[in-house]
Amino acid sequence: MRKNIVAGNWKMNKNLQEGVALASELKDKVQNPNCDVIICTPFIHLASVAELLKGSKVYVGAEDCSEHDSGAFTGEVSASMVRSTGAEYCIIGHSERRQYHKEGYEMLRTKVLKALENGLKPIFCVGEVKEEREQGIQNKVVEAQIKESLFNLTPEQFSQVVVAYEPVWAIGTGLTATPDQAEEIHAFIRSLIAGKYGKEMAENTSILYGGSCKPSNAKELFAKADIDGGLIGGAALKADDFCGIINAF
Ligand code: PEP
Repeated sequence: MRKNIVAGNWKMNKNLQEGVALASELKDKVQNPNCDVIICTPFIHLASVAELLKGSKVYVGAEDCSEHDSGAFTGEVSASMVRSTGAEYCIIGHSERRQYHKEGYEMLRTKVLKALENGLKPIFCVGEVKEEREQGIQNKVVEAQIKESLFNLTPEQFSQVVVAYEPVWAIGTGLTATPDQAEEIHAFIRSLIAGKYGKEMAENTSILYGGSCKPSNAKELFAKADIDGGLIGGAALKADDFCGIINAF
């Protein structure tokens, strides 16, 4: 059966010392979670945080990786470099990467493959912007994002992927999709996976919700049949808030 997961996305927050302090606090506070717990940190934290959390209940991931293997790509960090820190996960296709760095279907397809080839589990983000939701085309948007960047994978590769549905209009805005709105699209995503890889794969794939998830709304969201946890931005920056969400399971 699929795993329940609460994953934090620190984005571009916290210097090294602050990040290590937060990871250390989480290490102490997350003792017996009823779900898998992951923190995705800026590249500069990965090695220290992965070492600190070795043997703990908190897994580590990056927020992105390069589509290239190595070479003259100043400022980029490859999937193999990420893996060498001890990190096990990698967010790919976050809406902020799609929007500010113009990452499209093809680049994201390559990044997913690079992550998998290097032993990282992708947390692949999809979601519509406000105008698309207003036009009622959210399913079409999400379907294209998934088909174009994930459905080239073999079943074995796909089994390593975690999907995160993050309506862009809910990220960092304080607006949250209602549990019913989120459930509707999570169920749709699962049906797409079933159509491509079969029912068993669909049942085994974790689909996380992201977008202003906090301790006060997590329980209601996670109670839905097809919502297997959350990808958490703002609320992942304070140990008590993050633990409040973990404890919703
Ligand atoms: C995110 O960026 O992945 C996210 C869900 O952010 P927030 O929780 O702050 O809306």
